[in-house]
Amino acid sequence: MQAIRKLLKMDHTTKFKKVDTISVDPLSEDPDEFIDQLVKSTQTRHRHQVKQISPLPLDTPMKEGHTRFVCISDTHGEHRKLESLPKGDVLLHCGDFTDLGKQKQVEDFNEWIGSFKDFKHKIIIGGNHELSFDPKIVAEVRRRALDRTFCWYEYINKIPPAITDDWPKVLSNCVYLQDAEVSVNGIRIYGCPWNPEFGGWGFNTKRGEDLLSKWNKIPGDGIDILMTHCPPAGFCDQVEHYQWEERVGCVDLMNTVQLRVQPKYHLFGHIHEAYGYVTDGQTNYINCSYVDRKRRPCNLPVIFDFPNPPDAPEGLSELIQY
Ligand code: 5GP
Ligand code: MN
Ligand code: MN
Repeated sequence: MQAIRKLLKMDHTTKFKKVDTISVDPLSEDPDEFIDQLVKSTQTRHRHQVKQISPLPLDTPMKEGHTRFVCISDTHGEHRKLESLPKGDVLLHCGDFTDLGKQKQVEDFNEWIGSFKDFKHKIIIGGNHELSFDPKIVAEVRRRALDRTFCWYEYINKIPPAITDDWPKVLSNCVYLQDAEVSVNGIRIYGCPWNPEFGGWGFNTKRGEDLLSKWNKIPGDGIDILMTHCPPAGFCDQVEHYQWEERVGCVDLMNTVQLRVQPKYHLFGHIHEAYGYVTDGQTNYINCSYVDRKRRPCNLPVIFDFPNPPDAPEGLSELIQY
C-alpha cells in the first residue's frame, strides 16, 4: 500500500483532485486574500506550496524524443533588441508583443519572428497592449469616429477593417491563438489573451463570471501547455509598489488551472516584475516577461523540453477554434 502511495505521489497529475467545473470563487476579486485563506487552512495549504525551479541553461543540448520550447513574452515592440534566441523547436510568445497594436509594429514583429529560421513553429497570443486585436475596442473606436467624439486610439480607425478582422493573415510567420488550440508533435497547446480589468486596455475583462467564462473554454481533457497573457493568482503575479507587494493574478484562472485543466506548463507574462519559474508539484508556472516594469529589456527567455507523446504525428496540427 505504501509503495502504491509513493507511486501515486510521484505521478504529479494526481496531486490535486480533478474537477469538471469551476464556480466563481467568493474571493475572485481579492487574490491576496484568496492566497492567505488557502494557506491558513490545513485542508488547502498544499495548493500554495510554491517551489522555485532553476531554468535550464540556454545552451543545454536538445534531448532526443523531446520538443524544445523557447518562451518569451512582453517584448512591447522591443523585439529587435532580442537579436539572438536560444536554439529550440518551437518559439512561444505570451502577448504584449506591441506597445499599442499599431499595424506597422505588428508587421515588423511578423517580419522579425519570421527571421528565426531554426524554429520549426512559432506560436503567439495577444495581450492587453494589442488594443487593435480586441474586437470590442475596435468597435468602440469605429463608433466614436462616426459620432466624431474624441478617442485615444484614433490610429485604430486607420487600420482597414479587413486587417483588424483578420490579424492572423498579417501574422503569417506564426500561429496566433485566441481561444484556440494547436498541437505540435502531439503536444496540445491552448492560448488566449484575456486579463483582469486594469486601465481600460485590450482584452480587459471583469474578474468573476466574465473572466471565468473565458477560462471555461479551455478544454479539460489534456491540454499540455497553456498560454495566457495574465498570471494565475499566487504564482509569479506580484506587483511591486514602493512599500508593499500585491498579488494581481486571476483567482478563477488559478482554480481552473490547478483543479480542472491541470496542464504540465502554464506560461504567461503581463506582470513584468514577477518574471520567474515555479511549480506547485503538478504544473510548472513560467512568467517569461522580457521587459521590466519600466519596459526596459531585461530578462532571458525560458526553455524547457517536453517529451513527445508516443505515436503522435510529427509537426503542426490544424487549429481548433473554441
Ligand atoms: P502592461 O501594461 O505591460 O500590461 O503591464 C505592465 C505593468 O503594469 C506590470 O508589470 C505591472 O506593474 C502593472 N500592472 C499590470 N496589470 C496590473 C494590475 O492588474 N494591477 C496592478 N496593480 N498593476 C498592474
Ligand atoms: Mn506587458
Ligand atoms: Mn500586459
